[in-house]
Amino acid sequence: MTELCDLTFAEARKALAAKEFSAVELNKAYLEAMEAARGLNAYVLETPEIALERAAESDARIARGEAGALEGLPLGVKDLYCTEGVRTTACSKILGDFTPPYESHVTSLMRSAGAVMLGKLNNDEFAMGSSNETSAFGTPVNPWRRKGSDAKLVAGGSSGGSSAAVAARICLGATATDTGGSIRQPAAFTGTVGVKPTYGRCSRWGIVAFASSLDQAGPIARDVRDAAILMGSMAGYDKRDSTSVDTPVPDYEAAVGRSVKGLRIGVPKEYRVDGMPAEIEKLWSQGAEQLKAAGAEIVEVSLPHTKYALPAYYIVAPAEASSNLARYDGVRYGARVAGRDITEMYENTRAAGFGSEVRRRIMIGAYVLSAGYYDAYYVRAQKVRTLIKQDFETVFAAGVDAILTPATPSAAFGVGEMANASPVEMYLNDVFTVTVNMAGLPGVSVPAGLSAEGLPLALQLIGRPFDEETLFATAAVIEDANGRFTADRWW
Ligand code: GLN
Repeated sequence: MTELCDLTFAEARKALAAKEFSAVELNKAYLEAMEAARGLNAYVLETPEIALERAAESDARIARGEAGALEGLPLGVKDLYCTEGVRTTACSKILGDFTPPYESHVTSLMRSAGAVMLGKLNNDEFAMGSSNETSAFGTPVNPWRRKGSDAKLVAGGSSGGSSAAVAARICLGATATDTGGSIRQPAAFTGTVGVKPTYGRCSRWGIVAFASSLDQAGPIARDVRDAAILMGSMAGYDKRDSTSVDTPVPDYEAAVGRSVKGLRIGVPKEYRVDGMPAEIEKLWSQGAEQLKAAGAEIVEVSLPHTKYALPAYYIVAPAEASSNLARYDGVRYGARVAGRDITEMYENTRAAGFGSEVRRRIMIGAYVLSAGYYDAYYVRAQKVRTLIKQDFETVFAAGVDAILTPATPSAAFGVGEMANASPVEMYLNDVFTVTVNMAGLPGVSVPAGLSAEGLPLALQLIGRPFDEETLFATAAVIEDANGRFTADRWW
């Protein structure tokens, strides 16, 4: 049944409508494929009963001619999304067996559109990381391997379960979240397409918070069209998220295949960072050529505050995290470790429940928010953030429609390979992605080639606020020019 799992959603949708196979058959094929791929550790919880029940409901709706936009789609859900009656842990021990009595806004929209949940996907603990090695459930394995090597590679982070599962064809599409790159970087490492929407486009309600002013929900999918289809059902206003924006959701799928003739694509000179591998440099100029061949105009642009983005991000994100994670006190959720008094109970619970990266972030956050350092660090980082946002505004005001950059500074690295590196070296993975979150802009990561070692490499397109459509149109051009990248099944 693996052939069923090789179809994109756009293809499966047609076959489902033509009754070539049923939603139950499609989802059964995925459940079997998941079982065969357990060694990849992409899922932290499989929900086969829910999947088959919802797939049968999909078949009934298809039979009545009432199919929704995602009808029958076998979906993997990042374990950061609250799912009604289904354990949600953010891949942290501190949440224990927390089982939310409600569904996140985004997944409930997808469910109303007919999506079928296969299970919950691995991620870095509280989405803090770039390799998914901070998860309490262990690291998911990238379905891609270096040529001639069977060394295990990371699938990126924090949405490493989502990217591994989509690339391994053990879900058709996945939800993910992106605070500094967690959708785009794992997508880049696995030859999949990842979309980080404009801040406010998707509701954060019911998604475990990391850094609330940066977090956004978005899809990881097999190709650009599937990503656009998923986005169409994930986006939408929600009054329960005060930063959700009430603006109509366009037909994203219609933007796939739209001409890019006459578009102005900016190439920022500051993204040519020191030590960038020649193959990334080449991928980038090739991508620019491909857009040019499709009728776009390539212009050099400047985003002068780029070099401050990573340091500023690693102040703002931990500050918000330390505040958001204060709620895990052993009383309201999940795990509790007793102590002689309430203070000791808090301390014991938090010491046992949080992993080392999360503890590091809480400490950095508490420090930069403390009375003596607030102005020197937090306020200054917020000012830098404004400058970064203004850089983009200036470029867009000058008539640039989208910005083309590499998605990551390297291809996927080995599991454990960064274990002895400093945390800052891991943070460098996000050098091309964090600016987008700091400015609240949409960004897409699209596969554009293979490294000398045979691993996927990707480009990023950054758009104007709420102009995801231009990103789908331009990403589709890059995709058409380079083809799709599919990992061979070895697991
Ligand atoms: N890697 C970045 C971090 O650890 C981004 C994570 C994310 O986007 N959730 O903060």
